[in-house]
Amino acid sequence: MSEPIRDRLVSLRRSFHRYPEPGWREFHTTARLVEEIRAIGVDELAVGPDAYDPADRMAVLDDEVIEPWFDRARERGTDADLLDQMAGGNTGAVAVVDRGDGPSIGLRVDIDGLFVEESTDESHVPADEGFRSEGDGTMHACGHDAHMTWGLAVLDAIASSDFAGRLVVFFQPAEELGGGAHAMAESEYVAGLDYLLAAHVGLDHPTGEVVAGIEKPLAMAHVDVTIEGTSAHAGKAPNEGDNAMHAMGTAIENAYGIPRHGDGMTRVNVGRAEAGTASNVVAERALMEAEVRGETTELMEYVKTRLERVSRSAARMHGCEAEFDVISECPRADSDPELVDVVAAVAGGVPGVDRVVPTAEFGASEDATFLMECVQEDGGLASYLIVGTDHPTSHHTPTFDVDERSLEHGVDVLVESIRELERRHPLPRGGEDQ
Ligand SMILES: [Zn+2]
Repeated sequence: MSEPIRDRLVSLRRSFHRYPEPGWREFHTTARLVEEIRAIGVDELAVGPDAYDPADRMAVLDDEVIEPWFDRARERGTDADLLDQMAGGNTGAVAVVDRGDGPSIGLRVDIDGLFVEESTDESHVPADEGFRSEGDGTMHACGHDAHMTWGLAVLDAIASSDFAGRLVVFFQPAEELGGGAHAMAESEYVAGLDYLLAAHVGLDHPTGEVVAGIEKPLAMAHVDVTIEGTSAHAGKAPNEGDNAMHAMGTAIENAYGIPRHGDGMTRVNVGRAEAGTASNVVAERALMEAEVRGETTELMEYVKTRLERVSRSAARMHGCEAEFDVISECPRADSDPELVDVVAAVAGGVPGVDRVVPTAEFGASEDATFLMECVQEDGGLASYLIVGTDHPTSHHTPTFDVDERSLEHGVDVLVESIRELERRHPLPRGGEDQ
């Protein structure tokens, strides 16, 4: 039996930190997780396509984008059978501890890194203490290295306890792409869960603070708009062209003109655009990458529908055709107060936690809402909690880091919440008889 994970949280987190992999390319990461899960000894372990139906993935990448990461993982000595299992970018895993009568509880942690070049500055702890990212241009700049560590430590603690019930830990890939949760949510492992916990480190909450359940994450969709026109000689015969660049400019201009909505907050942004080939050619093709958000799923849908209309109309106005592709999306889902109460009560007793905030607005988006919504629609309860950490700079920046004390806090809050749910199951539902 290997050393309890509880005693090596820091070294485990640092090992994940050293080798970040971006969404749908977490080959080595998944294999490392599997290695640890096997050492823990669980009742069920599903990897990649056994954990979900690949057809349910969102933001799926082309093979040529995936392959270099697959090859890199192989060169790094990743288990060949596991690599085969994940071929095509089917990364991630689900582990189950099944111990008879009791509640069925899910825990979701995400596992992907980001395209951020990690700082080499000696004031940046990972650089100074020798665990800076070895993957050029990629970094665990959002704390998912801490999340994986929590997932394993919780699994280990519950598996070696007298817990009665079922614990399902989702090691979810591609959160940053908004791509992984949908596949997991559609899987057999979500069906029948009484409770679901998801957790994030930091998010501007300091070490020692715990938010028991967030509310108001924004519903979001990423879309690609491709506009096809007709090229022509810009000097001799511009009249023979259908200018895709011009159509895209019109679309961008009008995207920001989509009216606000009386029911609540909305967002729209065109974050990337490209078009054309040369200054003397009428552009034949243009692409823009945009996102829309809303305070509710309906509000997000509203902006999305308007953006599609704007894009198609702008294309038509210039004799072009627009293709509107939703790459990924996630709904809004709020934490259930009954579950928030349990987490808050437990967190208050965890050593090192000196402030418990019952609920806070999230202000961003998270695809965990797919899992939350699924569990809630099925009659279960869900909460997305935040374990505070003093991070020197914001998430997604080259000097982001987590205060490693929050590793322990997270494990304790999650393990104790699971045990408390086991004791209190079934939780009375406040909403039902009112
Ligand atoms: Zn994150």
